[in-house]
Amino acid sequence: MSHQLPTVPHWIDGARRESGSGRTAPVYDPALGRQTKAVALADEAEIQAAIASAAAAFPGWAGTSMARRQQIVFRFRELLNERKLELAEIITSEHGKVVSDAAGEVARGLEVVELATGFPHLMKGGHSENVSTGVDVYSIKQPLGVVGIVSPFNFPAMVPMWFFPIAIAAGNTVVLKPSEKDPSAAIWMAELWKEAGLPDGVFTVLQGDRLAVDGLLEHPEVRSISFVGSTPIAQYIYETAAKHGKRVQALGGAKNHMLVLPDADLDLVADSAINAGFGSAGERCMAVSVLLAVEPVADELIEKITSRIAQLRVGDGRREPDMGPLVTEAHRDKVASYIDIAAADGAEVVVDGRGIEVDGEADGFWLGPTLLDRVPTTSRAYTEEIFGPVLSVVRVACYEEGVELIDSGAFGNGTAIFTNDGGAARRFQSEVQVGMIGINVPIPVPVAYYSFGGWKQSLFGANKAYGPAGFDFFTQEKAVTSRWLDPSHGGINLGFPQN
Ligand code: NAD
Repeated sequence: MSHQLPTVPHWIDGARRESGSGRTAPVYDPALGRQTKAVALADEAEIQAAIASAAAAFPGWAGTSMARRQQIVFRFRELLNERKLELAEIITSEHGKVVSDAAGEVARGLEVVELATGFPHLMKGGHSENVSTGVDVYSIKQPLGVVGIVSPFNFPAMVPMWFFPIAIAAGNTVVLKPSEKDPSAAIWMAELWKEAGLPDGVFTVLQGDRLAVDGLLEHPEVRSISFVGSTPIAQYIYETAAKHGKRVQALGGAKNHMLVLPDADLDLVADSAINAGFGSAGERCMAVSVLLAVEPVADELIEKITSRIAQLRVGDGRREPDMGPLVTEAHRDKVASYIDIAAADGAEVVVDGRGIEVDGEADGFWLGPTLLDRVPTTSRAYTEEIFGPVLSVVRVACYEEGVELIDSGAFGNGTAIFTNDGGAARRFQSEVQVGMIGINVPIPVPVAYYSFGGWKQSLFGANKAYGPAGFDFFTQEKAVTSRWLDPSHGGINLGFPQN
């Protein structure tokens, strides 16, 4: 059947490149529940062609003046802002999220593009005059070369934009390997770059699976890898890239907790839990997965959340419901299996999202908002990342018990505390072992001029994404020590200069 469907191509040398490999993967419309496209999976020759094109474009792009590079990034920003709804609709057709949520994803990516327009300021080096007599020291920041980006399905536009605006502005050339589940957004953005005036070869899209990723990891021309995806793959990417001498940042999975103290505003908590637990069908690395209720608030909170869930509309994202389908049938089934796991381990299924009424095709990959109570912390439903619309409540006796649970998990991506006690919030931000923290804010994704990244198994490597860390990652520094001789240079001295 797939031969009758359109195939999403690569983007090499500034043009669509149909694949000659014959290998493809299916791309589904999750709300329709059927395959609508195929995506090319690169073979060895296509991997080599993509990297060679990016490598050939590098000297010209790195040598292009900052002023000119800045104009092109500005133009990309303008085009993206004008046409963001087009991109949002593409995202919805392959990912399933509600169109307004997809537009929100594009807006968060746009923020990083806007940060990148100011890159000359962030690429400045330092200068120290007369560090020794007649000697000056200064630093300059230069691009790395070809940089690889490997992105996940859940943010097909925003996650690539965490990296490529900064990488390109800094003078690198980019090879992006998107998720094979929703590959079209990358091609749309490549066409926009072309329209913005970016020279061919500076932005390349290589569609593919593990073969393409390994090609990037092993190729000597690829200087760095920016990866976002599940933890086991992130760890593999980190180790393999390091073994090949590359700079690497590999962002992994998450299991985010929201700690609710008894003095919190429970209506705000319930609204926030709904937004952060079920937005984008829970397929966000910053989604709240566990609500830690410090007793005695759990019963009241569960009642408030349950009544809100009853109001939620699930359906085709093009019809603007509250929540769309999951990305694939296999992922939907995997998420649903955690409801059985939790129940078998003794949890109470307060709201079961299986078999809900939807505003969409019967075959869509549906799973409604699900609420579990008294989830044992030994259950796999508690310890593992679920990545779907399943919110677990764990009842704890005190603040300390809550923090201990957060810190004992494998991940450290995001967490939030809900309280009206400033002292408790301040203590929490200081001691909890997590990279991004919300105080009465459920999804604390930092703005573009800070940096994004978790701790522990949520980030392998030293550099977070975007913000100042992004500019550090995509540039390498030279320190120059210079002396312009005058007649009194002082003659031979075999020691270090001391004055
Ligand atoms: P995934 O790990 O399955 O895939 C991510 C990328 O890796 C894709 O491009 C995929 O093609 C590639 N890949 C898959 N298997 C591979 C293999 N064996 N070898 C090499 N490459 C491989 O992740 P996903 O399902 O697309 O995305 C969801 C995951 O991403 C969740 O775990 C989520 O928490 C995580 N995520 C993390 C962040 C973060 O900032 N920490 C952000 C978004 C998503």
